[in-house]
Amino acid sequence: MKRYLLVIFISFCILVTGVIWFAENQHAQIVESHKRLATERLGKLRAALEGQINSSLATARALQAEIKISPDISPERYRLLMRELITDDLPVRHVALSPNLVIQFLYPLAPNKEALGFDYRSSPEQFENVQKAISKKSIFISGPVNLVQGGQALIARAPVFIENKLWGVIAVVIDIEKLLISSGLTSVDDYLFALKKQTDKSATLFDFGDATLWENDYVAIEVNVSSETWLLALAPKDNVWAERNNIYWIIVGAGLSLSFLMIAFMFNLVTAQSRLRSALTTIDHQAHFDPITDLPNRRAFVDYLTQLTQKGQEQQFAILFIDLDHFKEVNDSLGHDAGDDLLVAVAKRLQNQLRGTDFIARIGGDEFVVVINRFTSHQVVNDLAAQLNRHLSQPFSLRQNQIQTTCSIGIALYPDDGLRATELLKNADLAMYAAKTAGRRTHYFFNDELREQTERQNALHKRMRDGLNRHEFSLMYQPIVDFSTGKINKCEALLRWTDEHGNKISPSEFIPIAERTGLIHELGQFVLEQACLDWNIIDQSGYPIEMSINRSERELNDMESAKQWLSCIRQHNIPCASITFELTESLLMNDKQRQLQILRYLRSQGVKLAIDDFGTGYSSMNYLQRYPVDYLKIDRSFLNKAPDDRVQVALLDALLRVARALDIDVIAEGVETKQQWELLQQKQCDFAQGYFISEPLPLKELLKFLGKWQF
Ligand code: C2E
Ligand code: CA
Ligand code: CA
Repeated sequence: MKRYLLVIFISFCILVTGVIWFAENQHAQIVESHKRLATERLGKLRAALEGQINSSLATARALQAEIKISPDISPERYRLLMRELITDDLPVRHVALSPNLVIQFLYPLAPNKEALGFDYRSSPEQFENVQKAISKKSIFISGPVNLVQGGQALIARAPVFIENKLWGVIAVVIDIEKLLISSGLTSVDDYLFALKKQTDKSATLFDFGDATLWENDYVAIEVNVSSETWLLALAPKDNVWAERNNIYWIIVGAGLSLSFLMIAFMFNLVTAQSRLRSALTTIDHQAHFDPITDLPNRRAFVDYLTQLTQKGQEQQFAILFIDLDHFKEVNDSLGHDAGDDLLVAVAKRLQNQLRGTDFIARIGGDEFVVVINRFTSHQVVNDLAAQLNRHLSQPFSLRQNQIQTTCSIGIALYPDDGLRATELLKNADLAMYAAKTAGRRTHYFFNDELREQTERQNALHKRMRDGLNRHEFSLMYQPIVDFSTGKINKCEALLRWTDEHGNKISPSEFIPIAERTGLIHELGQFVLEQACLDWNIIDQSGYPIEMSINRSERELNDMESAKQWLSCIRQHNIPCASITFELTESLLMNDKQRQLQILRYLRSQGVKLAIDDFGTGYSSMNYLQRYPVDYLKIDRSFLNKAPDDRVQVALLDALLRVARALDIDVIAEGVETKQQWELLQQKQCDFAQGYFISEPLPLKELLKFLGKWQF
C-alpha cells in the first residue's frame, strides 16, 4: 500500500510539473512574440538613430574632404559650407574646426564665441579624446558632456590629415536631446528605452533613457556608429512582457483539476484494489483458520496431511486426535462464551507444549489434532500424549470460574496405520473413541484390534444393507400399560434383525453402527413404513393404540425427512396424535437448533414426543422446561434396584414429582417385577412397560396378547 501511495505521489508531482511546464511554455511563446515585436521596433529605431548620427558625421566627413582640398579655408567659406551642410533637422548643435588643435572656426558662431582660440592641449580631458581620434585616424565620439548652455552633447571628433600630417581636428557637437527626439526615441511611450555606449561589456560611457531597464528583462540591438558600437534596448513599462492571461490560468486550472481527478481515480483504484486484496486474504484466512482459536481448521489440516502423505516421505509422523471430555457440559452450564474461552485456552496450552515443527489444528467443536513430525520412538509419542493430558487437566481460570477438563487422545502413526490422509484421520479418530470407552482422560494408539473392529463394522454395514434388501428386518411391539385405566393403549415398535444364517443381532449392536455409517436413514424409513402398516392392522382389529417409534438423532438432520415422515403417516390415514417419536435426551442437551426446529415442527403437526432413556445422560430438568415434550421414559436403571434401594426410590419419587409439575407423563421402562409394578402404581406413575407386562412381540402375538389382556 505504501509503495502504491508513493507511486501516486510521484505521479501527482510529475503531472503537476507537466501542467505547469506546459502553461509556462505557452506563456513563454507569448512573451517571445512580444519581444519579437519589440525587436522589430528596435530595428526601426536603430535605423533612425544611425541615420541621424551618420548624417551628423557626414558634416565632419564633408568638411574633412573640403580641407584636404583647400587647407587654408576662410571663415566665410566655412560659414557658407556649414550653412549648406547643417540643416535644421540634424541634431548638430555646432561644429568647431581647430587647425593645429586650436579652435579657430565655429558654426554657428554667436552662441559659442568664447570657445574661439581654445587650445585642446590646455584641457587634459579634451585632449585625451582628441588624441584618441588622432591615433585611430577616424571619427571618435565622446561624451556626453554637460554644456554650459544647458543640455548634454556628444562630441564627434574627426582628425584631418594632409599627406599623412595632422592638420587639425573637426568637432561636431551633437545635441543628445535633439538626437533622441529626431530619431523618435523620446516618442516611444509604450516601452521603456535605454541607450548606452558599449566600449566593452562593463564600461558605460553614456547611458540615456531609463537606466533601471538594464537590470530587467530587455531586448537590445547594437547600433553601429562610426568606429563604435552602442546598445539600444527596450523593455516593457511594468517590466512584464506579458501578463499571465486567462488562458494561462485556464490551462493551469484545467490541468490541475485533471491531475487531481486522475490521482483521485488512481487512489480509488489502489484502495479498492487493496480492499479487495485484504478481503481475499480474510476470506482465505477464514477458509483455512478457525475463528475462535485462530488455529488452522479441518480443511487446512486435511490439506497439510495430504501434502505430507503425498510426498511419500520415509519419515514417520504421528497424528494425535484430541477430544475434550465433557466439553458440552461446560457449554451448557457456563454458556457458549465460556466454552469458547476454554477452547482458546486449551489451544494455547497445546501450542505451548509443542515444537515449531509440529502442526496443530482445530477440526471440530472440541476436537484438536496435532501432527508430530520427526520422533525417535513410540515411547516419545506416548510420553507426549501423557504430558498433553496432564497439562490440560490443570484447572483453567475463566471468567471467575475454575474449570477442570481432561481429554481423550487417539494416536495413528504414518505409515504403519495408513498411507492416506483420510485413513490416518479415521484411525486416529477410532483410537480416540477407544480412549473414551476406556474411561476418558487417557490416550490410545490405533492397533490391530481397532482395525479389526473397523473391518467388522464395515462388514456389518454391508450385511445390513444386503439384509434390508433381503427383508431380514422386522418389527416387534412391546405393550405399554396406562396405570390410570389398566388398559394397554400404547406400544413401542422395536427393530429386529435375523440374518441369512438365522443369527439374531441385537439393535443395541447394529443401531450404533447404522448411525455411524448413515444406514440408519434407510432402516428408519423401513421402521416407520412397517409400523404404519401394522398400526392399521391393530386398529382394524379393534384396539385403538398409540404407536411409539424410536428415532435416532442422525435421522433428524433435515426438515425434508421430517416432512416425509408426516406424509407417510398421513398416507396411512393415521392421526398424527397416534404416533409418538422417541428421542434420547442428548438431543435436548446440546444446542442443536436445527434438530429442535424440526422437533417443534413435528409437534406442531400433532405428533407426540417422548424422551427416551431419561436419566442416563447428563440430563437436566431445565431442558424439559424449554422444549415441551409429551412423555418421559425413565430408564430401567432407575428401577432395577427398587424398591429395596431407598436412594433409588427417593430419586424416582423426585423425578415423578418434577414431571408432574411440568405436566409431562412418565413411562417407566423395564418393569420386571410385581414389586416394581406396585411401587410405580403407589407413586402414581402414568405408564409402565417391561417384561412384567410383556416382552416385545411379533404383530400376531401382540394381537393375541391384546385380546387376552385383563387387569
Ligand atoms: P429402548 O428404546 O430403550 O428400548 C427398550 C429396550 O429395552 C428394548 O431392547 C427392549 O427389548 C428392552 N426391554 C423391554 N422391557 C425390558 C425389561 O423389562 N427388562 C429389560 N432388561 N429390558 C427390557 P432392544 O429391543 O434390544 O432395543 C435396544 C435399543 O435399540 C432400544 O432401546 C432403542 O434405543 C434401539 N432401537 C430399537 N429399535 C429401534 C428402532 O426402530 N430405531 C432406532 N433408532 N432405535 C431402535
Ligand atoms: Ca425406546
Ligand atoms: Ca428406553
